Amino acid sequence: QPRQPLLPNTPASCLGIMGGGQLGRMFAQAAQAMGYQVAVLEPEAGCPAAQVTGQHIQAGYENHPGLMALAKLSKAVTTEFENVPAESLKLLAQTSFVAPAAACVSIAQDRLAEKHFFTRCGATTHVYPAPHWGIANQDDVASAREDLLPGILKTVRMGYDGKGQVRVRDRAELAAAFAGMNGQVCVLEKMLPLAYEVSVLVARGVDGEAAVYPIAENVHRDGILFTTIAPSTHVSAEVASKAQAAALHIVAEMGYVGVLCIEFFVLKDGSLVVNEMAPRPHNSGHYTIDACITSQFEQQVRALAQLPLGDARQHSPAAMLNILGDVWYEGDTDTMREPAWDQVLAIPGAHLHLYGKAEARRARKMGHVTFVATTMAEAQANLGKACAIIG
Ligand code: ADP
Ligand code: MG
Repeated sequence: QPRQPLLPNTPASCLGIMGGGQLGRMFAQAAQAMGYQVAVLEPEAGCPAAQVTGQHIQAGYENHPGLMALAKLSKAVTTEFENVPAESLKLLAQTSFVAPAAACVSIAQDRLAEKHFFTRCGATTHVYPAPHWGIANQDDVASAREDLLPGILKTVRMGYDGKGQVRVRDRAELAAAFAGMNGQVCVLEKMLPLAYEVSVLVARGVDGEAAVYPIAENVHRDGILFTTIAPSTHVSAEVASKAQAAALHIVAEMGYVGVLCIEFFVLKDGSLVVNEMAPRPHNSGHYTIDACITSQFEQQVRALAQLPLGDARQHSPAAMLNILGDVWYEGDTDTMREPAWDQVLAIPGAHLHLYGKAEARRARKMGHVTFVATTMAEAQANLGKACAIIG
């Protein structure tokens, strides 16, 4: 399909976004840098994206008049969160160019659909998801194969940051965990021996052109992304190119348009397992703002506006630290203070990004800081210094 670019800096060049969190804010900032107007649909007043956009439609994600208003303003619309109602994207697609499409987002919203899709892709990519079994009722608990235990029970929908997951050692624990899920459909995954967790960002345009970023290595704490280093220092060149090839196949197979992030596990025996995908820019790709020729957000703008994709190569090793609300608190107490940003910014190569969230709550993503350096060792050492200051 040929591109029909929506050129920047014209009266008509407004890009719409579903969701007003930090991903929407950084998308808007990238769009504005190129001369686009941005309109955001988000129910919450004063959200991170609305603080920086000219048009805030304060409405729910399924609010019909709100969606109509967004479509009227925006020739092209994207989403910043994966649980955007697919029906809303379909409605917007009647009048605006929508990327990613509802059909792609629907796969990523359902862990079982996602695993079926990945399994199908495995015939080409030779990368498969973890052994798993759908659990919709107690019969499924009874029929789960013994070798899936110990495992992790995950809700099929709406899980994120480790929420909606229970680790189970045996069938009795599985039955109890499923009973605690209030009837939600779940998937049981075999607990795998992880060596590392990595992610691959990939972008694809309507014309089928694609760009893949280097492999990033992620460390989670309490289910939330803690640090990302890119390029990964542990993964072999062979595993890295296998993951990148899998990512390129996955976007092509879906006919995906926009930025997509795929999480993989590298097991202790060196094998690669595909975990899940997010149909949008991703926290593990924030390093691209400061360390790549084209950031993931600019890439999303380009894909949405049907412009040529940018160069995804990385120019500097990078280490990113997520900043959670916890750093505003003195230790385990309820006493709050502003973190010493001046000291963090005194560290060489520091790029601070704060999302403008008024209230710092524990486990809430408030910002991130990326360290770029000439060597990864230096970037990581500088990240360590930041941890000592704000950690
Ligand atoms: P979320 O949507 O919350 O990110 P994930 O499926 O990525 O859910 O799981 C969160 C984390 O739990 C992963 O980053 C990984 O550390 C761990 N995990 C998930 N599935 C498995 C598995 N099958 N084996 C071992 N660890 C797992
Ligand atoms: Mg995950």
